Amino acid sequence: MIPVRPLPAYLTQRYQGWHATTFHENKPWYRRLAEDGQHPRAMVISCCDSRVHVTSIFGADQGEFFIHRNIANLVPPYEPDGDHHGTSAAVEYAVQVLKVAHLIVLGHSNCGGVQGCYDMCSGNAPELEEKSSFVGRWMDILRPGFDGLPEGGDAPERRRKLEHAAVITSIRNLMTFPFIGEGVEKERLSLHGLWTDIGEGTLLALDAESQDFHPV
Ligand SMILES: [Zn+2]
Repeated sequence: MIPVRPLPAYLTQRYQGWHATTFHENKPWYRRLAEDGQHPRAMVISCCDSRVHVTSIFGADQGEFFIHRNIANLVPPYEPDGDHHGTSAAVEYAVQVLKVAHLIVLGHSNCGGVQGCYDMCSGNAPELEEKSSFVGRWMDILRPGFDGLPEGGDAPERRRKLEHAAVITSIRNLMTFPFIGEGVEKERLSLHGLWTDIGEGTLLALDAESQDFHPV
């Protein structure tokens, strides 16, 4: 037997409400989405954090964004080693099959994954150093970002810089995928780095020249 249980009532009720209203009122739109397939213009790579709500801040509809979420919005370097690479698979599908025009990496404030990386690299989270820690090994992607943090600043400031570094690291790693480097060079694909402050509702964009983040 597979150990599954019925959905809790609050989810069943919400689903039924959505089906009776939003879905029912827009049935032809959903039919068209099903028949025409998806043609998203952009892929967004964001954190799993439940407070990061990509479709809400961009007012997006179904079919508009190809979204991949993982801990701390990280993209690993290109490693064609035959292992399981969920993020790389999503990136490959978006660029090679869906042919999205924009790849957006969206970081955020108060990121628990980045905090974990900060603690681990500061020697304050030995459990994350264990080989068996999936979070720890995933956050290894951001170690070079921690090592590259400028001197000085208090801990909250340095953690924020590390959140920004997570976005920059992901953009750099995206460029190690041959089909992305080629897409950028031939101007078929543009990369974007963003960071949002959850409490303030602000959105900052990574500037290529200064390698700093500025308000959108
Ligand atoms: Zn996060």
